Amino acid sequence: MNWFKKLAQSIREQKTLEDRFFTVVVMVGLAIVLVSMVVTFIEDISSAASVGTSLGGVMLLAVIYVAYVKKQMDAARIMICYTFNCIVIPIAFFTCGGIDSGMPLYMLAGIFTMVPVLRGKHRVICIIVAVLVDVLCICISYFLTPAVGGIGLLKLDLLAQLSLESRFIDMISSLILIALYIIITTAMIMDAYQKERASREALLVKLDDLSKRDELTGLFNRRELFHFLENLEISNKEYYLCMLDIDHFKNVNDTYGHVFGDMVLRKLAEIMTEEIHGESGELVARYGGEEFLLVLKASQKQQAMDRLNQMRRRFTDTNWEKEPELMTSFSCGMVCCANYKTYAEAISQADKLLYKAKENGRNRLET
Ligand code: GH3
Ligand code: MG
Ligand code: MG
Repeated sequence: MNWFKKLAQSIREQKTLEDRFFTVVVMVGLAIVLVSMVVTFIEDISSAASVGTSLGGVMLLAVIYVAYVKKQMDAARIMICYTFNCIVIPIAFFTCGGIDSGMPLYMLAGIFTMVPVLRGKHRVICIIVAVLVDVLCICISYFLTPAVGGIGLLKLDLLAQLSLESRFIDMISSLILIALYIIITTAMIMDAYQKERASREALLVKLDDLSKRDELTGLFNRRELFHFLENLEISNKEYYLCMLDIDHFKNVNDTYGHVFGDMVLRKLAEIMTEEIHGESGELVARYGGEEFLLVLKASQKQQAMDRLNQMRRRFTDTNWEKEPELMTSFSCGMVCCANYKTYAEAISQADKLLYKAKENGRNRLET
């Protein structure tokens, strides 16, 4: 019971595609061995056939023990590939009807399995070995069948000839089993690949967005701001560039603490984000500590001023629940982009106007 619990937990813990795929191979392999045992029994091929398929079952159990109880995944991977391709399948081939049976299909499935289960040089070596073993088995069965057919190794009816009816059942059951195996494993690989690709793409989008944003406020950072400005149609008369700075912010920090100061920054960012229309080409970015840069779009200068004053009012009217006596404000300088050749010139002028707003008593907009 304890062994079974350990096994179930190990399977659940698997994270990589290779490990999950290995588990599916083991489980599907176990199912095939069980079904083959039943089919071999019904077909009544020979006692050797039952020994062959039973051996497969025992080997699989050994692999499961090494993989999930001993947790030696790499060893289990190599073990399953070599034991099946070099021992179980060749024995089953000679005891379950050889080239007249469905065994060549199992050989093919054995070779196919190594591609996703093994890696690097183990994969190449094991595939070469398996192909050589399979070719050798087919050659032996072709050249030696008449010679040893009557002798029977260990009296286990080696190279027993199947009756027509047995060949019919064996071919159909093998074809269905191997087809199912290939379909399930390939579908699983494709599903896992698609899931991994989707999650990687989502992660890239998230990382890309994070690289553009300021951690504290969630606004675009300076890098993204300059990228935006480089692509801005500066001659467009509808664009207004506004530089904004919180008034006496050092006092806010000194009086209420940095954590509270951070909250003030976030609140202003929230107000500006709500007031701008990102979808129509506007932008707000954190330019520096408590300085922000806005690009607004308006057909008239007054329109842009009204919107800035609306933001200013909302910030001034903010009710700081924990500090009701506090009144926050910001000063702002605004220019029309079309009056400047470069965005650097526009920023410089907006900065001068911001300085003027501070000089003229703060909590105001200069244009
Ligand atoms: P003025 O009205 O002239 O702009 O005065 P001020 O106090 O706002 O200007 P000053 O440049 O002296 O102070 C800016 C302060 O902003 C100083 C700095 O500690 C604070 N600050 C910058 N970044 C952050 C931040 O991310 N969080 C917090 N809490 N404070 C910050
Ligand atoms: Mg300030
Ligand atoms: Mg400042």
